[in-house]
Amino acid sequence: MKLAARVNQVSPSLTLAISAKAKEMKASGIDVCSFSAGEPDFPTPQHVCDAAKKALDEGKTKYGAVAGELALREAIANKLKTFNKLDYSAQNIIVTNGGKFSLYNLMQTLVEEGDEVIIPAPFWLSYPQMVKLAGGTPIVVDTKADTNYKITPEQLQAVITPRTKLFILNSPSNPTGTVYSPSEIRALAKLVVDNDILVVSDEIYENILYDDAEHLSIGAVSPEVFQRTILCNGFAKSYSMTGWRIGYTAASEEIIGAMGKIQSHSTSNVCTFAQYGAIAALNESQECVQTMLKAFTERREYICQAINNIEQLSCPRPDGAFYVFVDISKTGKKSLDFCSTLLESEQVAAIPGIAFGADDCIRMSYATDMETIKKGIARLERFVSSLG
Ligand SMILES: *Cc1c(COP(=O)(O)O)cnc(C)c1O
Repeated sequence: MKLAARVNQVSPSLTLAISAKAKEMKASGIDVCSFSAGEPDFPTPQHVCDAAKKALDEGKTKYGAVAGELALREAIANKLKTFNKLDYSAQNIIVTNGGKFSLYNLMQTLVEEGDEVIIPAPFWLSYPQMVKLAGGTPIVVDTKADTNYKITPEQLQAVITPRTKLFILNSPSNPTGTVYSPSEIRALAKLVVDNDILVVSDEIYENILYDDAEHLSIGAVSPEVFQRTILCNGFAKSYSMTGWRIGYTAASEEIIGAMGKIQSHSTSNVCTFAQYGAIAALNESQECVQTMLKAFTERREYICQAINNIEQLSCPRPDGAFYVFVDISKTGKKSLDFCSTLLESEQVAAIPGIAFGADDCIRMSYATDMETIKKGIARLERFVSSLG
């Protein structure tokens, strides 16, 4: 049997593979400290679960509109107006199977053979794969710790060509925790307009911000950039709803209509009663978001200091999300080797930076309890010193 050629163009998700391996080891009784998870370690807030249960009892168990329940699209539009200063209506929104399918569907909708998509590295590992699956060419731009892993306007301008279709912006960033300041967002927005390209803004970590970090949606900068912005977001990270699979895209009616076409032949609507949980998440108290943020804040303080106290390791202080991106170059090891030896010898799971386009780094998630963090860091320190 011959598989389609496109399968060979992509690699499987390394983060999902390592998380699965760590879970498997745990299940077989091994004491694993896992920093691999890309999901909050809190249960989904009770009022969200209650709303979904109520919808289930009320018989919201049938096919729904492909683009999502109108009440949810209205709640999203309202949230985007209030919190992000973006003037969208329900017609500008499509609810998708997680933020991931928002991005996948969007690439299928916009990108074709010959199109270039600019992706700053370190990147969320699915971006380049999704671009390739759509037949496009990922243009990866390396950023370094000394610019806090941010693409500069000069770097962006230098890679824009007549074939540039999209620029993918992810702030706060997975894997680095970087947050672009409002003035940095404005500078990038100017280039988007001047060069007449589109920007995809993946804002899934917008609520997880530390100290005085501020999130500015790039579409809110000006009407000119708003027209060229496609916003992707979801409920997974803000509301600890990773398994619910609810995300959304906001864009022009033309793009949303086209995505609806693709969606009508792929996933159809997102699980109907789950969408009622998402409505409750947006319309009811936001205290749950703050409770999680408070825990992340304490852990970030601890993990960041502890890593930087280990002689051969360093990481910038993340301004958002729940990851530290640790430079391991002084250990002389590459990321895959580092992570697999660390898992074998100390039962500590972390994600090799090569998955995100940075082979001299590893990603450690602190979406796990303080006890695991303390124990895991002690093991990491022992591991690094054993490398000599
Ligand atoms: C988690 C994540 C997503 C989407 O997650 P879903 O579970 O599909 O909603 C999108 N972008 C980034 C950067 C993420 O970390």
